Amino acid sequence: MAKNNRIRVTKEFTLDMAHALDHYDGKCRHIHGHTFQLSITVIGHPEAGTDNPKSGMVMDFSILKNIIQKEIITTFDHSLVIHKDSPYKIIASEISHERIIPVPYSPTCENILLDFVNRVSPLLPEYIKLHSMKLRETPTSYAEWYANDQLQTAAVPGVMDQYSN
Ligand SMILES: [Zn+2]
Repeated sequence: MAKNNRIRVTKEFTLDMAHALDHYDGKCRHIHGHTFQLSITVIGHPEAGTDNPKSGMVMDFSILKNIIQKEIITTFDHSLVIHKDSPYKIIASEISHERIIPVPYSPTCENILLDFVNRVSPLLPEYIKLHSMKLRETPTSYAEWYANDQLQTAAVPGVMDQYSN
């Protein structure tokens, strides 16, 4: 395999989510929502050969789509994400609703993205590596996770093992 034929492929998704940042000193402490845009980029070599149905592909886009759809979109689209100890948890306890998601972190764009990375990375096929994920909260603000940025801290065990190959 030639050294210089690694390719990144990206799939993009849209999901509507509400959140509340309990201790934030601004309007975002109230429940409010965004149309988030999630991008996932994987890196690998296009499949060699001509008789393989995945020939020429780094990763079948539909496989990537199915992973994100099943693991992220199905759970989080049209949901309210709150800290498990948020004052708003009364909503979750009094109204039984599958779309209220208590989480053990402050549900900022950054922390939700980290949660997504941790959910998705163990599900990716071994033949590709997670390169990056990006969560856009507004037209002018987004958070990004890059595997390369984690080299010092190895924040996501397993991902970096793959990446260092
Ligand atoms: Zn917000």
